[in-house]
Amino acid sequence: MTLSELTLDREGLVAAIATEDAAFEAALREEAYHVKVATVGPEVYLRGLVEISNICVKNCLYCGIRRDIRCPRYELSDDEVLATARTAAHRRFGSVVIQGGERTDAAFIRKITRLVKAIKSIDTGEDPPLGITLSLGEQSREVYEEWFDAGAHRYLLRIESSNPDLYRKIHPDDHSYDRRLQALYDLKEIGYQAGTGAMIGMPFQTAEDMADDLLFYKKFDAPMVGMGPYNPHPETPLTSTGAPYPSAERRFALGLKMIALLRLLMPDINIAAATALEVLDPLGREKGLLSGANVIMPNITPEEQMVKYNLYDRKTLNTSDVQDLIDQGIPIGYGRWGDSRHYQIYVRRSGGR
Ligand code: SAM
Ligand code: SF4
Repeated sequence: MTLSELTLDREGLVAAIATEDAAFEAALREEAYHVKVATVGPEVYLRGLVEISNICVKNCLYCGIRRDIRCPRYELSDDEVLATARTAAHRRFGSVVIQGGERTDAAFIRKITRLVKAIKSIDTGEDPPLGITLSLGEQSREVYEEWFDAGAHRYLLRIESSNPDLYRKIHPDDHSYDRRLQALYDLKEIGYQAGTGAMIGMPFQTAEDMADDLLFYKKFDAPMVGMGPYNPHPETPLTSTGAPYPSAERRFALGLKMIALLRLLMPDINIAAATALEVLDPLGREKGLLSGANVIMPNITPEEQMVKYNLYDRKTLNTSDVQDLIDQGIPIGYGRWGDSRHYQIYVRRSGGR
């Protein structure tokens, strides 16, 4: 397959995903990098990732912190979260992501509201204050509104798979694809920049499923997407099924290829180079940037807790080091929220924040 044969309809995307032609894949990544630079610029935006807690009420079949796994649990205190946010401000990251297991109890909801307000009032010495992205699973519309009113402006909720049948296979019965979709539309209607994404290279997943994931992001008109390779966790039911999935090498190549295809399909959005890439290659995130991604989430969780946020076999600890970016000559958008160009155009149209 050659680049000139690539079409961005379903058939073309399926063919591009299915091929293992290394020369085509390299040319595609290079093309996507050029499109990124020409459309959103060469800078990478940083979001300091705070993994607030590994306590979760859900039981996703792929996840290493699912409810039924026996593992040491933790929850960062308000002071610990604020200390990491101050670190992000000090390092001029521009924004933070608060991510964690899903919880819907009142104490947790109030805690997030309190923290969002407190983070907003941190004096960064520059304008604007720290941007705040939340990634805390499915919540009621009222809770999403409460957190938005407190000052959060982005929310990450992956669709995990846009194929309802595959979604059902990788989740227990108390999950609902329709509920997940509703949550995404709630977030959008409230005014969040609603980011989504899916895992790549899962058991039971086909090239058609992955092409449909890309078309789903387009249909949802996502201003940002964070997708990454599936990495097996030995104690999860999805791994125990024994169902085959692509090799680590293939999942990595697929991860980069999906980023590149999405950059061609949606040139002006924000695309994150997921942590899951780094697990498969020490320079995985940098290679993601060279394939069309423009956002990285350096992990600023205290190390003692970071090791317990064990979604999958993490051989390396992803730390807040941005030296690799500097070494690769990648320019950094320090101190800025780095909203996607796509979203800025949308805000101008709709009058949102
Ligand atoms: N609980 C929230 C949620 O599910 O949206 C946020 C935290 S959850 C750990 C963040 C993401 O981790 C999920 O959206 C999922 O795609 C990803 N994840 C979980 N297990 C994974 C695995 N084994 N391989 C790759 N990604 C995984
Ligand atoms: Fe909980 Fe999120 Fe893991 Fe599902 S993916 S078990 S909601 S932390």
